[in-house]
Amino acid sequence: MSYKLGTSYFSTRILEHVEKDLKEIKKQGCNFVLHTFDEVDLYYNKENMKRITEMSHKMGFEVYYSPWAIGGVFGGECYSRFVMQYPDACQVLSTGEKVGFACLRQPKFKEYIKSWIEACAYAGGDVLFWDEPHLWIAEWNDRVSNKNEFSCHCSVCQAEFKEHFHKTYPNHWTPEVEEFRDLTLVEFLRFATSTTKKVNPKMKNAVCLLPNDNRWPNPMWEKLAKLPDVDILATDPYWKQRPYATGRRDPLEGFVDTFARKIVDIAKRNHKEPQGWIQLYGLRKQDEPDITQALEMWEKAGVKNIAAWGFRACESYSLLTSERPQECWKRMGDFFKKLGKSKAASKKKK
Ligand SMILES: [Zn+2]
Repeated sequence: MSYKLGTSYFSTRILEHVEKDLKEIKKQGCNFVLHTFDEVDLYYNKENMKRITEMSHKMGFEVYYSPWAIGGVFGGECYSRFVMQYPDACQVLSTGEKVGFACLRQPKFKEYIKSWIEACAYAGGDVLFWDEPHLWIAEWNDRVSNKNEFSCHCSVCQAEFKEHFHKTYPNHWTPEVEEFRDLTLVEFLRFATSTTKKVNPKMKNAVCLLPNDNRWPNPMWEKLAKLPDVDILATDPYWKQRPYATGRRDPLEGFVDTFARKIVDIAKRNHKEPQGWIQLYGLRKQDEPDITQALEMWEKAGVKNIAAWGFRACESYSLLTSERPQECWKRMGDFFKKLGKSKAASKKKK
């Protein structure tokens, strides 16, 4: 199998600029592109998403879409209209506090996700990339994690907990709370991925798992990997955390390579395609060699589907960008071109 190499792309819906950028992405050795498809696109840009997709296909790219920060429950630097429109369909913490994140069990949110899938099918994408699905995360909301402050404790979740465990949903952490939260994500993704196939059987599903969970074997990952409509299993061990310039630096060893091995193991056992993502954003000049090292780790793990977040090291977002975005972008491109050539050479030998 030849390499599938890609990058995420966002910020621009001006077709002239998109065309120029896609040419640049092509030159970097990419053969797929992930277009973020957020709530603004869903309301205001369906036609432009279709045009951008047609343009991408014409240039030979496979097209991924991610539900960028939709409902606040997927990865992405964007805001949610849903949580403002439907506060009653949002998550509630175990403390009773309402938070601006859609509840994955609320019918209203499921309907909304179905409308997003239909818009994706209309726009013509090939792969729906369910990126970092999560419940409320304390650290992402500038809070210190406290095990007894968790979601979701809304009325729907309380009723479903009672139905499942035949007891009242506790407001402190228990093994059943952990199991219920895992099931919340698994059942939501079962709904999302099966709806995708119903709407358009040709569309694939990728699920990108957050590497923030140290359980291994991970019962949630095991259940997700068994979902019949999941085609690709990905993870994104981004080693440099916020704040990007001064934040904690995770060593790549024991993190990127470990999660690469984990995703390969679980994908192979469940007959799914493994995919790895590397970080191009938020890197200082001295961090640039990390890019090559992370790519080597994915290559060494035997992963043939590799992508980077994101286009020109996210220079269109000043909070996210790397210190020298062009150098980061070039480093990715050099490695991708080398991977592409290595496959071409091995084909010739045969
Ligand atoms: Zn809920």
